[in-house]
Amino acid sequence: MLYNVAQLLKAPVGSDQRQSIEGAIDLHDPDATVVAPVTGEVRFQRTNQGILATGTADTTVRLQCVRCLEDFEQPLHVEFSEMFLPTIEVLSGRPMPPVSEEQGFPIDARHHLDLTEMLRQQIILNLPDQPLCREDCAGICPVCGNNRNLNPCNCEVQEDQRWAALTHLALDDMPSEN
Ligand SMILES: [Zn+2]
Ligand SMILES: [Zn+2]
Repeated sequence: MLYNVAQLLKAPVGSDQRQSIEGAIDLHDPDATVVAPVTGEVRFQRTNQGILATGTADTTVRLQCVRCLEDFEQPLHVEFSEMFLPTIEVLSGRPMPPVSEEQGFPIDARHHLDLTEMLRQQIILNLPDQPLCREDCAGICPVCGNNRNLNPCNCEVQEDQRWAALTHLALDDMPSEN
């Protein structure tokens, strides 16, 4: 997802440019896979230091449900506003000081701004902590191991009273915030 921003870097502060986003992203994450193109809109705005990229993107990720352990696909929407800084001064061709992570993302020596790494990070930040294939996923039966979404079983799930007592004890032992 490369954009040539040489012209925009030469333009006065405040100049902007709108572009569409379309591309593939590999999350490098064993627990989540992007299974659809990443599409969206971005506005590049010239600032004093570089280019501010603001926009939205949508895709679909495949995750594993924490309750039934089945894979499922979930749409994902991200909103971003991130700085991109030149590594080469556009008019003189002189190298600029290296870009640190806190400052933003680097624009390469040929004035190509790449949204891929930024969007990869945004997608990972927006993944659910506890992925559920659906709100009311019935999960796996603790007695027979059956996936109760596919066929309900008639197992009697009885809470062991000794464990229940321990759970309450543990909760009471938690330090209070106040
Ligand atoms: Zn599930
Ligand atoms: Zn069962």
